[in-house]
Amino acid sequence: MSRYWSQTTKRIKPYVPGEQPKDRTYIKLNTNENPYPPSPRVIEEICRAAGEDLRRYPDPCCEELRETIAAYYSLSPQQVFCGNGSDELLAFAFLAFFNPGAPILFPDVTYSFYPVYCTLFRLDYELVPLDMSFNVPVEKFFADNGGIVIANPNAPTGACLPRASIRQILEHNFGSVVIVDEAYIDFGGESAVELLEEFPNLLIVQTLSKSRSLAGLRVGFALGHPDLIEGLRRVKDSMNSYTLDRLALAGGVAALKDDEYYRETIRKVIATRERVAAELLKAGFSVIPSKANFLFITHPQARASELYAGLRERGVLVRYFNMPRIDNYLRVSIGTDQEMDIFLRCITELAAHAQG
Ligand SMILES: *Cc1c(COP(=O)(O)O)cnc(C)c1O
Repeated sequence: MSRYWSQTTKRIKPYVPGEQPKDRTYIKLNTNENPYPPSPRVIEEICRAAGEDLRRYPDPCCEELRETIAAYYSLSPQQVFCGNGSDELLAFAFLAFFNPGAPILFPDVTYSFYPVYCTLFRLDYELVPLDMSFNVPVEKFFADNGGIVIANPNAPTGACLPRASIRQILEHNFGSVVIVDEAYIDFGGESAVELLEEFPNLLIVQTLSKSRSLAGLRVGFALGHPDLIEGLRRVKDSMNSYTLDRLALAGGVAALKDDEYYRETIRKVIATRERVAAELLKAGFSVIPSKANFLFITHPQARASELYAGLRERGVLVRYFNMPRIDNYLRVSIGTDQEMDIFLRCITELAAHAQG
């Protein structure tokens, strides 16, 4: 603590990102990165953009990227907003649509950035407890609120709500903005995109970080009514007009245009996820059915904290959250088949050892 910190800096509790360690090479299953490289066309377009034009500012409106995303989802560019990763979009959205004094609702077990933004922006929030199996009790979101944030599929559980449940939440909340964070939607969930024309209070947030293998490029986008998009633009242009650089804009456009390539990598991730889930069940683990690129698992005898440490020693990194309700679970990102075979061998050995 420094005496020079502002009140805000003293008060906030920053988000802790998954480690990117450099002490040795790990099989990295801890940050939900995609194990497959981005489309070769993306790299080509980024290289093409890495030229003398870099002396010029990028397009602050992200016109071409917004048009490409709009065409992809059959929307108008006025319904699309682009950001430096979806984390930035979420921050803008919290500022643009939520007020202090009225509680923001989100599940008690969800993406841990949401409470961080609430504290940063002095917003109140209320945690809605998930049920014993980590399902979202939809009717708890029918209460009075100042806004709702739902990650769908949820993180770190991977559980996914059907579109009908998102619709129900929207129908009961015409008075506030409902943010649906679809960071993992491409791995098998039902997107809420088709609800946009009906609900002017729906904001969908997606990212190229997970399904498009571009976590390092920092491109996210939001879809919503033009009035919501205009709200995001007002906030952005009060902070930083150029959140996406020229390389990110070029790579983002190319990523959306090479759908065929990504369909194939997504198919591979899903197939590996289902195979690994079945193997873990056989080894005595409980596995939450996942529509994301990770699995959330627990074992009746082996402590998650010890499995985490044992895997780490063997060069396999997974995510362990020392938090209420989930401190005996591990979140395991889906890697290549080869990586997952090593993970499976290590974790089944560790679990068998814990059972004695
Ligand atoms: C990874 C993730 C994000 C952030 O993605 P970026 O676009 O890389 O900032 C947002 N929400 C959830 C639930 C995530 O897991």
